[in-house]
Amino acid sequence: MKIAVLPGDGIGPEIVAQAVRVLKALGPNFDLEEAPVGGAAYDVAGHPLPPATLELAKKADAILFGAVGDWKYDTLARELRPEQAILGLRKHLELFANFRPAICYPELTSASSLKPEIIGGLDILIVRELNGDIYFGQPRGIRTSELPLFKGAREGFDTMHYSEPEVERIAHVAFEAARKRGKKVCSVDKANVLETSQLWREVMIRISKEYPDVELSHMYVDNAAMQLVKAPKAFDVVVTGNLFGDILSDEAAMLTGSIGMLPSASLDKNNKGLYEPSHGSAPDIAGKGIANPLATILSAAMMLRYSLGMPAQADRIEKAVQNVLAQGFRTADIYTEGTKKVSTIQMGDAVVAALS
Ligand code: NAD
Repeated sequence: MKIAVLPGDGIGPEIVAQAVRVLKALGPNFDLEEAPVGGAAYDVAGHPLPPATLELAKKADAILFGAVGDWKYDTLARELRPEQAILGLRKHLELFANFRPAICYPELTSASSLKPEIIGGLDILIVRELNGDIYFGQPRGIRTSELPLFKGAREGFDTMHYSEPEVERIAHVAFEAARKRGKKVCSVDKANVLETSQLWREVMIRISKEYPDVELSHMYVDNAAMQLVKAPKAFDVVVTGNLFGDILSDEAAMLTGSIGMLPSASLDKNNKGLYEPSHGSAPDIAGKGIANPLATILSAAMMLRYSLGMPAQADRIEKAVQNVLAQGFRTADIYTEGTKKVSTIQMGDAVVAALS
């Protein structure tokens, strides 16, 4: 099993190092090969996604990714910014399905800003389409307005679109995922206003006929944003487009109060995937040894389950993480009085010990 290890910037190298330790402790002989990405790659190779890194990602069975970005690169041209690496990997590897679980571990219920009875036991999955929508639609740009009221003024414009096959493939991914969970899919759109969403909804209904065991519901995105705060446990799998998914998956992650805990996966049609924590590179705490590595360790578990066909090993990691939380180990971001505050490395030590 070849795994491309791309630590990236900020806390990326610190948290990825712990996930690598956990993978090595599992036993199987993974072939782990590391390469620079993001700002770190720009520094050594002049590009956030150098050809050698892309080649490695292409030939690997799966990719373990840390995070990219740092304020020091903010002045670079857009195509050289660290974040372009992740967009480039998604595009070149055709990673179109993003899985973002939002789980509230019983021991961390108090970390959420929501009441325990609303958030306790939360376990939902946001499936976001990654390759289409307004983020990639053409035409786009800045031009001179022709609108009578604003004629001659500069205006920005983008194009939202989804083709039927794009909606079909993400629908299948969501229904298949729901089959392995609570058997409910909520498709989020804005079909009362957008033509793109009308087509999206039509296709979702058609594909749902192939999954009679899964219940399909629909929700407008504004209502979904409200329901995620009001009654998040009513959801099981949420499937939505790129733009709405970008916002809702961050909202869902934040509900749990501990972004340092949440993994994510971006998959292609053959279940090859890129696995990364839901959070960014946290430059504010980089190098301090206090970052929470659990989201990255749980991303490695997702990698074993979805891309490498090793569900039993994935279970072992997830159980080990629950075990260290039950033992009271906490990094600073999830620390509460009465628990044991540990560093990034000590959290890695605890998970490795709990594996056995
Ligand atoms: P962020 O997720 O990096 O940080 C938000 C807050 O959460 C910070 O206070 C940070 O200290 C904290 N935090 C995040 N991860 C943590 C962890 N594992 N342990 C403890 N605390 C943690 O978001 P941001 O500050 O908006 O962005 C910082 C940089 O990350 C930017 O350059 C941004 O572009 C980049 N970013 C990258 C990705 C990615 O690589 N996929 C995703 C989001 C943001």
